[in-house]
Amino acid sequence: MSRVSEKQKTVSSSVVIAISNQKGGVGKTTTCVNLGIGLARAGEKVLLVEADAQGSLAVSLGISEPDKLDVTLVNILEKVINDEETESGEGIIRHEEGIDFIPANIELAGLETALVNIMSRETVMRQFLQEMRRQYSYILIDCMPSLGMITINALVAADYVLVPVEAAYLPVKGLQQLIKTIGNIHRKLNPSLQILGILLTKVDRRTNFARETSAMIREAYGERVHIFENSIPLSVRAAETAAEGKSIYLHDPRGAVAEGYLSLTEEVLALAGCVDKPVEAESAGTPGLQKGGGQ
Ligand code: ADP
Ligand code: MG
Repeated sequence: MSRVSEKQKTVSSSVVIAISNQKGGVGKTTTCVNLGIGLARAGEKVLLVEADAQGSLAVSLGISEPDKLDVTLVNILEKVINDEETESGEGIIRHEEGIDFIPANIELAGLETALVNIMSRETVMRQFLQEMRRQYSYILIDCMPSLGMITINALVAADYVLVPVEAAYLPVKGLQQLIKTIGNIHRKLNPSLQILGILLTKVDRRTNFARETSAMIREAYGERVHIFENSIPLSVRAAETAAEGKSIYLHDPRGAVAEGYLSLTEEVLALAGCVDKPVEAESAGTPGLQKGGGQ
């Protein structure tokens, strides 16, 4: 792992995907790491941006104490706010599995509060990522478990949202709130924002309950929102990767979790240029969603 300093290859177009769900523990960070490294293994130039004060993405990529880092996303966003130039490669760390990432730590919580009082507060991350888009083909943003100002910044900066949903509980209410927020941002701040899809995670394939939850989500949302073909199974192998600082492709390459993330990677590559289901504003009132909401 090393700081990136050399001038990077310029790529022509890029896709920014925010990985978001205001519920914690649903697999956002795990998905960000394994989709990101999956895309890099497919030849894409990938940057992961941690938009979560918990620093779990940094930890998952081998940084044991993110709170001790000198430069994080916070310093970069502060420079954008103050109209200062960022140096090329500033804050970017290279991971041995072929991706670059920008970590965050507890200081991001302070920035979230400070953002409330500044001009163009919703577009700070977009301004920064506009620069990064020239250097990467895929930028994935690992969002925090809330719909506060940092998450709004991520959704304003993104082309797509990928929503991991844990199949072990009834997620309908939280999902409605998230889809409504995405709809609001689509209408008011980022007309090009689309939902790339819902990814079912931590699916315990041995139980009927997981199957029922999966079926319910497909029934409730499937008509309007893409649901990724394959889900990610519940497996201790996935949980172990964070402690090891590497991807599932190295930790358990032949296991079902690696298979699930490979399949997701292929689907994202196929979809990211041509999703045609726009986000609708008042999603909570559509028949499909009410069906799920009553269960
Ligand atoms: P989030 O970013 O949404 O909070 P994480 O990706 O950090 O979620 O996952 C939450 C916890 O669940 C972590 O301890 C992680 O290692 C574990 N985990 C993630 N995916 C799986 C899975 N497929 N099976 C079992 N445990 C998982
Ligand atoms: Mg996380």
